[in-house]
Amino acid sequence: MSLSAAQWLGVDESHLVCVPDNPPHRLTMATAQAFVRLQQAAASDGIQLAIASSYRNFARQLLIWNGKYLGQRRVHDDAGNTLEMSQLTTTQKLAAIMRFSALPGTSRHHWGTDLDVYAPDRLPAGQALQLEPWEYATTGYFAPLTAWLDNNLQRFGFFRPFTTGQAVAAEPWHISFQEEATTIIANLDYSALQQQLENSSIAGKEDILEQLSVLWQRYVMSHTDDIS
Ligand SMILES: [Zn+2]
Repeated sequence: MSLSAAQWLGVDESHLVCVPDNPPHRLTMATAQAFVRLQQAAASDGIQLAIASSYRNFARQLLIWNGKYLGQRRVHDDAGNTLEMSQLTTTQKLAAIMRFSALPGTSRHHWGTDLDVYAPDRLPAGQALQLEPWEYATTGYFAPLTAWLDNNLQRFGFFRPFTTGQAVAAEPWHISFQEEATTIIANLDYSALQQQLENSSIAGKEDILEQLSVLWQRYVMSHTDDIS
C-alpha cells in the first residue's frame, strides 16, 4: 500500500479501519488483519496480546512533542531517569526527545502499520503501563511476551523497527507490519515534512527546521532499512 503525503504525515486518516475486537484502535486493513491473526496465535499460547497504541495523528504527536519540549511532560533516559529539560542545550533536547518520541510527521504511528503492544494480564495490580524498556526486559513483567514475540512476529509479517544501536532507543513493544511499511518508507518525502512543520505550531520550530536535514537522516532514514 502506498500512502499520500497527507496520510503518512498523519493529517489524513482515510487509510485506516477499526481493528476487529480491539476498539478503539485503527490500522490499515492489511495490518489489522495480520494483527488479529498474531493476537489469536498468542492467545492460543497463553499470551494475552493487547494494543497500547496504534494509529496516532499529527495533532496528537504534536501535543506529545510540545509537552516534552516545554518541560510539561516527562522526558527520560534509557535507564528511566527523568531528564531536566531546562538544563539541556537545544541539540541535547532534540536528541533526548527523539530517543523515544518521533518528530510529528515522522512517526511510524501515522502510517497505520505500526503499533505498541503489551500483555494486560502481566501488569501488576495498580501498576500503569509505562512503555519503558525495563518492563520488557528478561527481568520485567512482560518477559514472557517479549520471548513470544521474538519467536512469532516474523511468521505473521511483523518486525521490530527499533532495535539497539540506533539514535532511537530499542522499543521492544513497537511492532510494524513489514510489507506495507516498506512501501511507505520508499515514498517518504523530505520537503512534504518540511512544509508540514513550517505550517504547524511545533515548539522549537526554528531550531528543528534549521537541523531538519540532519534529523531526517539520523531519525527517519537511519532505521528504515532495518529488517532485523
Ligand atoms: Zn510505538
